[in-house]
Amino acid sequence: MSVSQKLLQKYAELIVRTGANVQPGQVVQLTVSVEQHDFAALLVEECYRAGAKKVNMDWTFDRYAKLNYLYADQETLSAVLPWEEEKLKQMVKDLPVRIFIASEDPDAMNGVDPQKLSAVMQGRMKVIKPYRNAVDGKHQWCIAAYPSLKWAKKCFPEATDEEAVSRLWDAVLKTVRVEEENDPVAAWKRHTDFIEKKAAWLNEQGFASLRYHSANGTDFTVELIPGAKWEGAGAVNQVNGAFYIPNMPTEEIFTSPIAGKCEGTLVAVKPLSWHSQLIEDFSITFKNGRAVSCHAARGQELLEKMIAMDEGAAMLGEVALVPKESPVNQCGFLFYETLFDENACCHCALGMGFKEVLPGGDDLTVAQAQEKGINDSIIHVDFMVGADDLSIDGVKPDGSAVPVFRNGTWA
Ligand code: ZN
Repeated sequence: MSVSQKLLQKYAELIVRTGANVQPGQVVQLTVSVEQHDFAALLVEECYRAGAKKVNMDWTFDRYAKLNYLYADQETLSAVLPWEEEKLKQMVKDLPVRIFIASEDPDAMNGVDPQKLSAVMQGRMKVIKPYRNAVDGKHQWCIAAYPSLKWAKKCFPEATDEEAVSRLWDAVLKTVRVEEENDPVAAWKRHTDFIEKKAAWLNEQGFASLRYHSANGTDFTVELIPGAKWEGAGAVNQVNGAFYIPNMPTEEIFTSPIAGKCEGTLVAVKPLSWHSQLIEDFSITFKNGRAVSCHAARGQELLEKMIAMDEGAAMLGEVALVPKESPVNQCGFLFYETLFDENACCHCALGMGFKEVLPGGDDLTVAQAQEKGINDSIIHVDFMVGADDLSIDGVKPDGSAVPVFRNGTWA
């Protein structure tokens, strides 16, 4: 055991109480790998202690998922069966708190045809997405991580098994602010207060666009939706008013830009793991708001496929600001997991935007949000552009520019 029972208990409590903020009487849906069954039990018990009415499990197992892709045909895998759809209908009725524990091997899907992966995802999401839209803003959710051996070995291939897992645990606990003797709840309060202060400043400025510049070739302008909010750290369930933290860790302040209104080139500063496969050393060039070309040293085909997933996959759904001092960045290695890597530095995301950044956005339909400039897509993929020398200017409607970031951090 490379992490103490005390730390595990503190971490489980943090996820349930601060992250998901489970309220008495709520149903909880927990998605976790079968390999993490002991930690799952800790979480289940903590949910019940918080007053959960029922905790339901969605067990995952990436070796099983891979075998399905290798042996079952595309049509079979793409089908959402009636019993699965009934489960989704029940979710819309119960509005369960959802907790996801990420622990997958980043290479789990190596050897699976990327064409098949994206086709299956497209087929399934057509059925699933309307149900997801129906619960959007109406339930609490939290994604947190649990280091598995394969994931740890991906990050630290040179280390022994035990060393690798222990180093990944150290990093995970550092980024979620859990220490043997600290009060992680108080640490998160300080952290979310800081993020909220920065978001409030951005909202006061009312920038019409952001200009990105970096020596690596990033030269990019993106237009922002007038009146759209910058958000960070937490969100509020519109049904019961519960404050929750969707991602642990989280360092970002984000908004959704105007879909179809950006120009120039963004150069990625970290590899991107998509569908458990890697895209490395890449850049994306936008014209009239759409990705018109991309170049990747590795994973070119996968990147092209991603951008072509649907109408909205070539447009941006998110821009996010993260200073380079982020504890994720300080860890100094690639986690091969977006939950962490997207919190290392500034990023943008292709695909679905967030309607909740609009005033009254939670009550808008997807089509209404789209009319106001929010992108829609079945994908939402973050890629990192926060070079150490990145500068970002905010441009006001009158054309005046205000420094927002200099040398990769708050100006
Ligand atoms: Zn983000």
